[in-house]
Amino acid sequence: MSDHAIVCEKLGVAYRLYHHKVVTLKEVFTRRFKGSRFTPFWALRNISIEIPRGEVFGIVGPNGSGKSTLLKAITGVLDPTEGKVEARWRIAPLIELGAGFNSELTGRENIFLNGSILGFSRKEMAEKLDRIVEFAGISEFIDAPVRNYSSGMVVRLGFAIATDVHPDILIMDEIFSVGDAEFARKSVRRVESLLASDATVILVSHNLDMIGKYCGRAMLLWGGESILTDSADRVVAAYRKRVAGS
Ligand code: ADP
Ligand code: MG
Repeated sequence: MSDHAIVCEKLGVAYRLYHHKVVTLKEVFTRRFKGSRFTPFWALRNISIEIPRGEVFGIVGPNGSGKSTLLKAITGVLDPTEGKVEARWRIAPLIELGAGFNSELTGRENIFLNGSILGFSRKEMAEKLDRIVEFAGISEFIDAPVRNYSSGMVVRLGFAIATDVHPDILIMDEIFSVGDAEFARKSVRRVESLLASDATVILVSHNLDMIGKYCGRAMLLWGGESILTDSADRVVAAYRKRVAGS
């Protein structure tokens, strides 16, 4: 493998759709014999990407096209059903609401939990704690269980942790669509400083201007397939054209 931060080779992910409704006793037996109590649903198929270190890579596509599934495979939250995925260096996953949080634990406990997943000691995280809490703007709630947080608070805390640890790879799934205007401004500034560092970033956003502005290259996903990987500007243009025509 060359100096790539992330490599996917013919990656495919199938979810299992379970049959809960059993109609007849006969069906129970035939299903059991055939061993098919679920049907595979391919959310993603035949995806190949090579992302060099330091690249800011965008992923665009309509709802349900497989963007979050791809990020989950890259971060190791999901195992690929076929093909392979390799990610090097420390990844700070920032995928969807509260992934990586245990909702029964408090905000403070989750900061330490996330830190240990990312390879930091308790002492190292203790030094970061105040800055993280302050950035997330949740100081009054830091000792309350995360299940009592609003979705905006969860995202703010996740963002504050993931960007404070100076990750080698940062994965961001629609983070700018949540939170108020002030937090959005603050987070854009922080992301800009990460983009200026040598972190590798994958950015998923419905905000196509942002993809065009920050990303070098991008991929267009459609129905679980990769339609185009090219410069971000060309991918955004192709996506706009396809949406207008569909
Ligand atoms: P996107 O992030 O682009 O909106 P997702 O990766 O969330 O797309 O979903 C891709 C497809 O996989 C969709 O059809 C979605 O309904 C399906 N899907 C996502 N998660 C699951 C799951 N846990 N079980 C079954 N199907 C799922
Ligand atoms: Mg998604």
